Amino acid sequence: MSIKEEILNELSTHHSYQSEYRDSVLEVFEDVIDFESHYEPTEIKDAFFRLIEPDRVIRFKIEWVDDSEVIHINRGYRVQMNNSLGPYKGGLRFHPSVNQSILKFLAFEQTFKNALTGLPMGGGKGGADFDPKGKSENEIRNFCKAYMEELSKYVGPHRDIPAGDIGVGTREIGYMYGHHLKLTGRFEGVLTGKHPTFGGSCGREEATGYGCIYFLKEALSFHNKSLEGAKCLVSGAGNVALYAVEKLIQEKAVALSVSDSDGVLFFENGIRSEDLEKLKELKFEKRGRLSEWSEPFGEYFEGKTPWDFSGEVAIPCATQNEISKEQVQKLIDNGLEVICEGANNPTQAEALEAVKENNLIFLPGKAANAGGVAISGIERSQNATHRPLSKTDVEEILVDIMKGIHMNCCKFVSKVDGILPYKKGANRYAFDKVIQATIKLRGRTRANNSR
Ligand code: GLU
Repeated sequence: MSIKEEILNELSTHHSYQSEYRDSVLEVFEDVIDFESHYEPTEIKDAFFRLIEPDRVIRFKIEWVDDSEVIHINRGYRVQMNNSLGPYKGGLRFHPSVNQSILKFLAFEQTFKNALTGLPMGGGKGGADFDPKGKSENEIRNFCKAYMEELSKYVGPHRDIPAGDIGVGTREIGYMYGHHLKLTGRFEGVLTGKHPTFGGSCGREEATGYGCIYFLKEALSFHNKSLEGAKCLVSGAGNVALYAVEKLIQEKAVALSVSDSDGVLFFENGIRSEDLEKLKELKFEKRGRLSEWSEPFGEYFEGKTPWDFSGEVAIPCATQNEISKEQVQKLIDNGLEVICEGANNPTQAEALEAVKENNLIFLPGKAANAGGVAISGIERSQNATHRPLSKTDVEEILVDIMKGIHMNCCKFVSKVDGILPYKKGANRYAFDKVIQATIKLRGRTRANNSR
C-alpha cells in the first residue's frame, strides 16, 4: 500500500463520511510528501497519523428558548485539534452547515495557519449548527449563553481560547464572555475578539481583512507587480470583505465588488470610501442584505457572484469552496492573475489544477487570512500583561507579522516558472514547525494506528 493509500485508509476507518476533513488533510499531504530534503517518507507518514487524530472532539446539546417561549435544540462542538505550539486557538462558527467534518477541517487548517504566524498558538475550532439569520437580539443572547454554559467547562486562557468566525462577531463574543464571567467570576482572556472596552484589542475587527491585503501587497511586490490600480473582485460582505475593501481603497487598488449568498453588488469604477461607509452601515448596523442597497453607485445583480465579472485579482472572503473549477477557468479567460484567499479554503480542490496550469499566483487562506488570529494572539498578550496597545501599534505589528508569514512561505520552496508556490511553502513550513514541536514534547516514536 502506498503512503497515500494508508492515510486514506486511516481517514476512511476513523473519520468516515467526513469529506471536507479528508480533502483538507490530503491537500496538505500532497504538499509535504515530496519534502525529501528534510523528511523520509515514513517520517511523513508517522507524522500524519499523529496529526490527523484531533486531541479531542467535544460535542454537546444546546437548549435555548426563542421569543415565543419555544425550546430549540442545537448541536454545539469544540474541536481541540493540536496544542503542540500553544493552547488551542481558533474561532467559533454559528451556521446551519456546521458539522464535525467541517469543524475538523477548519481546526486542521487553523493548526497550520497559527503555526505560520510565529505566535505560540495551537489549533482548534468550534461552533454550532445554529442559524443566526432572522433571530432577534434576545434570541441571539439566549443562544450565546446556552452555548457558553457548556463550552465554559473546556476553555481557559492557558487551555483553549476561542474567538469569532462566521456568525460570531463582537456582539456574540460579548454575550459569551459575559456569561463565562458570570459562571466563573473570573475576568480572564478566555476569548479573543472582545470589544476593546473589556479587554479586546484595538484593530482586531479589521485585522483579517487588512492582513489579507498586506499579504497580497507583499506577494505582488515579490513578483515585481503592484497593487496600485489593480482591479480586485471581492466576495463576501462581512468584516473580512469590508475591511479588505477598506485597505484596497487605502492602497489605491480598485475594489470592484462585494457579495452575499443572494447576489453581487458591482461597482464599475471601484468602491469609493463613501460607498464603503454606507456598506458598513447596511451590514454592521442594520444587519441588512445587499439586495437592500439603494445608493446611486453600485449595481446589484441577483443570483450572480463576483466570479461572473472580470478582474486581475480575486479575493474570496465569504466561505469555503465558494469558487469552482469552471469559475476559475472563466476568471482566467477574463484576465485573472492572482487569487488571494480571505476566507478559509474558498477555492475548491479541483479548481487548484486550473490555478497551477495557468501559472496563477495563489495565496492560500492559511497564510493570507492569518492576520485575524495573529491579532487574537496579540490580544492574548495584552490580556496577560494588562497593558492595552494603541491602534497604531497593533497595525504596525500586523504589517510585521504578515511580512513574517510571507518569509515563512518562502523558507522551503523557490519560484517555479517565476511564481512562488505559496500553498506548498505554507504547508511545509507549518508542518515542520508543528511536527518538530510534537517530537520535542512527546518523542519521535513511530506512530501506530493501533486498533
Ligand atoms: N476565525 C478566525 C480564523 O479563521 C479567527 C480565529 C481566532 O482569532 O482565534 O482564523
